[in-house]
Amino acid sequence: MRVVVIGAGVVGSAVAAGLTRRGARVTVLEARTPGSGTSATSMAWVNANNKRLEEYFRLNHAGVLAHHELPGPWLFPTGHLERATADEHKELLEARVTRLASLGYPVERVTAARAGDLEPDLVRPPGAEYAFFPGEAHVHPMRLIGRLLGEARDGGAAVEHGAEVTAIEASASGVKVTVTGGRSFDGDAVVTCAGRWTQGVAALAGAYVPMLDPATSGRLTNGFLVTTAPVPARLSRMVTTSGLNMRPDGAGRLLLQALGLDDRADPAAPVPADIRDTMLARLPAALHATEEVTAERAVVGQRALPGDGLTVAGFADPAGRVYTVATHSGVTLAPLLGREVAGELYGAESALLAPFRPGRFTDGTAGPPPVPARRAGEQ
Ligand SMILES: Cc1cc2nc3c(=O)[nH]c(=O)nc-3n(C[C@H](O)[C@H](O)[C@H](O)COP(=O)(O)OP(=O)(O)OC[C@H]3O[C@@H](n4cnc5c(N)ncnc54)[C@H](O)[C@@H]3O)c2cc1C
Repeated sequence: MRVVVIGAGVVGSAVAAGLTRRGARVTVLEARTPGSGTSATSMAWVNANNKRLEEYFRLNHAGVLAHHELPGPWLFPTGHLERATADEHKELLEARVTRLASLGYPVERVTAARAGDLEPDLVRPPGAEYAFFPGEAHVHPMRLIGRLLGEARDGGAAVEHGAEVTAIEASASGVKVTVTGGRSFDGDAVVTCAGRWTQGVAALAGAYVPMLDPATSGRLTNGFLVTTAPVPARLSRMVTTSGLNMRPDGAGRLLLQALGLDDRADPAAPVPADIRDTMLARLPAALHATEEVTAERAVVGQRALPGDGLTVAGFADPAGRVYTVATHSGVTLAPLLGREVAGELYGAESALLAPFRPGRFTDGTAGPPPVPARRAGEQ
């Protein structure tokens, strides 16, 4: 089978790898460079921690497990430690731990001493409560993309950079995909993995896959991320606290996120200095040995959010030749999607993906757009 994959973010790279694994002849068309979209600005925490809809939780849990089947230097399977200090946060954490445990998700309530064993530099205020999620992980997205695209190339895939798709048409032998400059590529099927650009790319094939407008400012579609300069602190895993999330980001750097500040995230404007400074100022209250911290980078990441906030995966065009994948849980789901989407193109319907068909947007069964959630204790 000849398949054209549109987009080389973490999702398209995984789908390309999954397809070559099955023997497909794959061409990947990437408008810019691989990993230059949302995958370049991601917390990249691999988790199913706060997915309220059960099917979506199951999908993400399977996504977490799929990462563990693809070990390598991009994956840090060190788990996630959560520290709750505010009363409201403690109550929500307790409820979430109870629910996740009942669903068979690995989670342990841990003492302050155990939290200190896990993260010796974590600040442990009196009265704080802790939970450890040992199955969770974080990845370095570009290294994961390199791994997946490398596998695809080894399997014969051609990866075209600077190839922005401008037309998708039916042809005598299947589908013809045209890129800027007029070159065209034939396939038996097309898989769109265009992240936040999915609505426009799917429309080229006559398909309707609404995405929340990534140009709109605010926490629903955007998020701040700050990368620190290297610090002499010990941090081995994803740690979330009431006001700050953090994980290691290579060579002593930390990646910081404060969801409660994201209301002001505007992709058309630089990150305000006070946002960066607020995150840096919160760090010493969470991690010792970070008092002198400075920032190397501050960005606004733009989410890839289907209209109802849930993953989209399935054939989207009337002729059933154009398969669309888009999700806000792209890093968590990528290895799983690579496997399941490739299987679906070869006729193996995925029970995990079945609840997430794009047809829900045209048959009226899609839910309403998501409401931005604020986690307890966020300021
Ligand atoms: C602040 C922030 C934090 C996040 N944290 C997490 C997290 O902790 N865990 C998690 O799982 N997810 C997280 N996400 C979400 C996750 O990063 C994304 O879901 C994921 O990166 C999406 O990958 P993708 O491959 O679908 O999209 P992208 O990485 O955007 O890739 C799409 C690619 O398609 C290309 N493209 C677009 N149009 C065309 C065209 N016409 N022709 C050819 N190519 C085209 C683009 O150039 C791009 O490279 C976060 C996102 C943000 C913004």
